[in-house]
Amino acid sequence: MSDRGDSTRAAHAGLPDRADGEPFLPGPTFAAPYHLAGPSDASRFNYGRYDNPTWARLEDALGELEGAHSVVFSSGMAAVTAVVVPALHSGDVLVAPSDAYPGIRAIAGDLLERNGVEVRLVPTQDAAYRDALADATLVWIESPSNPGLDRVDIRALADAAHQEGAVVAVDNTLAGPLRQRPLELGADFSVTSASKHLTGHSDLVLGVVAVSNRERAAALRSWRIATGAIPGPFEAWLAHRSLATLALRLERQEANARALVDLLGARDDVAGVRWPGVGSVVCFDLGTEDRAHAFLRNCQLIAEATSFGGLHANAERRARWGSDDVGPGFIRLSAGIEDTPDLLADVEQALALSRP
Ligand SMILES: *Cc1c(COP(=O)(O)O)cnc(C)c1O
Repeated sequence: MSDRGDSTRAAHAGLPDRADGEPFLPGPTFAAPYHLAGPSDASRFNYGRYDNPTWARLEDALGELEGAHSVVFSSGMAAVTAVVVPALHSGDVLVAPSDAYPGIRAIAGDLLERNGVEVRLVPTQDAAYRDALADATLVWIESPSNPGLDRVDIRALADAAHQEGAVVAVDNTLAGPLRQRPLELGADFSVTSASKHLTGHSDLVLGVVAVSNRERAAALRSWRIATGAIPGPFEAWLAHRSLATLALRLERQEANARALVDLLGARDDVAGVRWPGVGSVVCFDLGTEDRAHAFLRNCQLIAEATSFGGLHANAERRARWGSDDVGPGFIRLSAGIEDTPDLLADVEQALALSRP
């Protein structure tokens, strides 16, 4: 399977062996207890918080795409928590990006520091990371970062972090497993919010952690059982169904993102146009809050909403959350699967109407 193309792999990932009269992708299994007579290990499936056949198929699919063991969680943040919290104790050191996803910074500040963990926040830059690595316990990387869209050399940083005895985790949400596989670059954990383009239909919240050894996967499953951070079977099934079109969606979204970058970059009334070369997210600066509001208000196709990676284009003025170090006119736009001319036309007319 692994030598086949991305779209082939995504469409077939995790499907059970063919059997006459059976569906391609079996529907979700809704169960709290399962029938289980005799010893507790008579079946892999005994109670709904422990395991579920719908999760198992989704994990097989994600594992095939990432070349790893994958463990799914109820959200991206539940996946982040499953990596970060059990790894860090009083006196340990976490190195994490100062521009990381706000939820990760909240855990670092609200929980870990109170528990005696030293938290070192650094910009997503190779040199800043290198300076902060001494005696690190866990090095958290988000590359490309969000919304800054900065990148670091994951392989080089993972090597340097391992020399300090640290474990390395990468938040891979922006790139995803078809564009970047952090485990192959030396990371110990690859974490993805599946609420974004991995599932891509803006209709579910889910997270996944990929690891390259069985022991780590077993530890993550134990954490999931203990904390109850489990996905619903219906979400897991929807995610598997949506995964089949990941490569197709991404190709169109990236073509749209590239076309938007060309359009925006050629204008003198738009500054700071950024796209990391993968994924759907394009950022740019319209200078003022008023102009950003006017742009968003005048978009007809592009929905004003947070998040990214969905098949409908959306955008927001990122400073409205107060959680990122961005200017008042900073726009984060996520390209959908719309036809490119339609998307470009929407941006052009909204920009024209937004001019003071
Ligand atoms: C959305 C996101 C998360 C959190 O994921 P949820 O599924 O919303 O819990 C973590 N990291 C990044 C980079 C994200 O974009």
